[in-house]
Amino acid sequence: MADQSDSMSSNCIKDRLRQVEARIQKAASLANRDANHITLLAVSKTKPVSDIVTAYSNGHRHFGENYVQEAVDKVKILSDKKDILWHFIGPLQSNKSKFIAEYFDWFHSLDRIKIAKRLNEQRTPYQNPLNVCVQVNVDDENNKAGIAVEEVEDFVASIQKYERICCRGLMTIPKAGVDDSERRQSFATMQVLFSKCAQKFERFDTLSMGMSQDLELAVEYDANIIRVGTDIFGARKK
Ligand SMILES: *Cc1c(COP(=O)(O)O)cnc(C)c1O
Repeated sequence: MADQSDSMSSNCIKDRLRQVEARIQKAASLANRDANHITLLAVSKTKPVSDIVTAYSNGHRHFGENYVQEAVDKVKILSDKKDILWHFIGPLQSNKSKFIAEYFDWFHSLDRIKIAKRLNEQRTPYQNPLNVCVQVNVDDENNKAGIAVEEVEDFVASIQKYERICCRGLMTIPKAGVDDSERRQSFATMQVLFSKCAQKFERFDTLSMGMSQDLELAVEYDANIIRVGTDIFGARKK
């Protein structure tokens, strides 16, 4: 059991999953939104396959991973569960893009044309186009991945020509350690940018933001994919 030491009991994961779903329900109803239009993405990075299986057995289907090798291993091990939707949400080196093209349904962290081009070439004709979100550096942080807010519309326009990827929306990881009012400003910026792009581009319907700490706020600002790790699977070991 040593390799499972970072895992919680399956009952615990089940309860936590239900709690997070309830938080989303409540936040949605306060915001006059339909919670059925909000997807909970269970972020299983660093957690064992058995934790994913537990969430799956409790009806969960969307899983998010950050590290290419770990992610591909998990996708292969769970390949009999054909209705899992795999989302890659971490930074991607261009020389690893073929793994994402081959094994994933969604890629949330697109911020380079070079990667878009490679994914487009590597996605095979017998797969559906890869769903992608453009990552936005909403708080203009120095060492943060993502496209600057002012450049997002041009970036989205420039990847429309790639037919094997489908640009579905925007993703952001706002600045850590800020208070609610600062977080609201970041989410409000994303909400405006998202709505502009949704009017301009076809099939643009996804706003990926909100994590364990701030999911209620994200729901207020129209997020429709919420990415939660810690509050479902427990703290991650460093
Ligand atoms: C790890 C991670 C999450 C989940 O964060 P928690 O705080 O554990 O809920 C969400 N999004 C991204 C991009 C992550 O890397």
